[in-house]
Amino acid sequence: MDRRTFLSSLSAAALTSQLGRAANGKPWNILMMFSDDHAWQAVSAYGGGLFKTPHIDRIAHEGVRFDQCLVTNSICAPSRAVVLTGKHSHLNGVPDNAASFDGSQQTFPKLLQKAGYQTAMIGKWHLKSDPTGFDHWEVLPGQGHYYNPDFLIKGGKHRREGYVTDIIGDLTLDWLKNGRDPNKPFMLFSQHKAPHRNWMPAPNKLWMFEGEDIPEPKTLFDNYKTRAKPAYLQEMEIDRHMRWNHDMKVPEWAERSFGKNDGNAEIPRMTPEQRRQWDAAYGPRNAKLFKDNPQGRDLVRWKYQRYIKDYLRCISSVDDNVGRVLTHLDAAGLAENTLVVYSSDQGFYLGEHGWFDKRWIYEESLRTPLVMRMPGVIERGSVNRNLVSNLDLAQTFLDVAGQPQPSDMQGASMLPVMKGEPVKDWRKSFYYHYYEKGVHNVAPHDGVRTDRYTLAHFYETKEWELYDLTRDPHQINNVVDDDAYQNVVKELKAELVRLRKHYKVDG
Ligand code: CA
Repeated sequence: MDRRTFLSSLSAAALTSQLGRAANGKPWNILMMFSDDHAWQAVSAYGGGLFKTPHIDRIAHEGVRFDQCLVTNSICAPSRAVVLTGKHSHLNGVPDNAASFDGSQQTFPKLLQKAGYQTAMIGKWHLKSDPTGFDHWEVLPGQGHYYNPDFLIKGGKHRREGYVTDIIGDLTLDWLKNGRDPNKPFMLFSQHKAPHRNWMPAPNKLWMFEGEDIPEPKTLFDNYKTRAKPAYLQEMEIDRHMRWNHDMKVPEWAERSFGKNDGNAEIPRMTPEQRRQWDAAYGPRNAKLFKDNPQGRDLVRWKYQRYIKDYLRCISSVDDNVGRVLTHLDAAGLAENTLVVYSSDQGFYLGEHGWFDKRWIYEESLRTPLVMRMPGVIERGSVNRNLVSNLDLAQTFLDVAGQPQPSDMQGASMLPVMKGEPVKDWRKSFYYHYYEKGVHNVAPHDGVRTDRYTLAHFYETKEWELYDLTRDPHQINNVVDDDAYQNVVKELKAELVRLRKHYKVDG
C-alpha cells in the first residue's frame, strides 16, 4: 500500500468511525419515499376513512406517525428546496414553482456524500436545474408524465414504457439491488410524481371503487362566509375550476372548462393497449354522465367522486410500491439499519372548502403526512404531536448519520423527538409563508400556527384571519374580530414579528 492509498484509507476509516450506527453495528442508511400532493387525509394510518394504504401504514405501525408535520410553504418545488437545504424559501432561492434551484448551495446530500455516504435521487425532482450532491440520479423532467414517461440522466433523456409510479418503484429496487456500493451506507430519495394533478390512474387501478361512493368532506359546500377576500378570489374550486378534459377525463365537455387549453397530454402518450383499457373504463362512465346530466350540487358531487376516485387510485399505486421497497429491505437484510421515511411535499384539499390543490396555511395543505421507522430507536406504533416540519428533515438526517448540523440551517434535528425523549425547547409556534402569484390565484400570505391557533396575514389586502383549532377544527369560523380573542390576536401578531426576525425574513 503506497502512502497516498494508506492516508486515503485512514481518512475513510476516520470518517466511517463517526457515523451514526444501528444496534447491529452498521451505519444507518436513509431511505426517503416522497410523493407529490399526498394529503394526510388519504393515509389510512391517519384515520381519514377514505381507503386503505396498508404499506405506508406499516411504516407508522412499526415506527412513528407525526400528527403535526407542517410545511413552510405549501407548494411543490419550494418544499423540495426546503427539504434539501433545511432553510426557508427566502434563503434557499425557491419561493415559488417558477424559480430554478441553485445547485451550488449547501444541501444535506452533499454533506452526507462528504461523510462517506452514497447518495441517489430517483423520480420526481421538479427543481429545474440538474440534481447536485447525488452519486446517481434519474429524474422526471419538470412535472413528468404518468404514462410512458421520459426520464433525465446526466447528459441525456430517454423514455420508459409503463406507468410512472411502477417505473419509479422498479428504478428504486434496481438501484438498491444492483446500483449501490454495499460497502457504503446510502441515502436514497425515491420520489413519486403521483398523486399530482391530473390524477391519471394506472391500468391495473382503473376499476377500483367501481360502484362505490367515497364519503364527502363536511365543508364541500363551504361559502367562505367569515373569511377575508382571498378565499373568494381563489381559482381552485371543484365546482368552478376543474377542467373537464384534463381533470375530469370527459373530453366531450372540454369547451365548458374554466380557462383555456383543456387538453389531456397523457392520452396521446398511451400505447394502443393502455388506450383500450382507459376507454373501456371511462367510456361507459362518461356515457352515463351524459344520460343523467346532473345539475347544481349534484354535478359538484359527481365531480368530487370522479376526482377523489382518480386521486386515491393514484395513491394506491404509490402504496403498492412502498410495499415492494419494504419487502426488499426485509429480504436484503437492510431493515435493521435503515431509517425509512414516507412523506409528501405538502398536504392537499380533497374537497374541503370545496377545493382541490394546496397553497393555504389552512390545515389540509399546511400539514403533510410523515411516518418513520427506525428499529431500536423509534418505539413501534408511537404517535407524536410536536410541531415538526419539512424544515427539520435535513438536520434530522445529518444527526442520524452522526454528522454535525450547519449553523445556518433553520430547522432542528427530530432525532430526540423520534426517540420519544421529552424535548423542552421544541418549537411552540411555526412560521408559514406562501409566495406564489400564479395559477389558482391564491393571495400570498404568511402566518403563525401554534398547537391551538392559526393566524393568517394576507399582506397585500392587509387582512387577517384567526382560527381556533380546538373549537373549530374545520376552520370555517374566522374569529380575528371576536372580542374574546383580542389577547390571542395581539400575542400571535407579536409572535409573527418575532418569527420573521428569527428566520431573517425581514433581512
Ligand atoms: Ca406538490
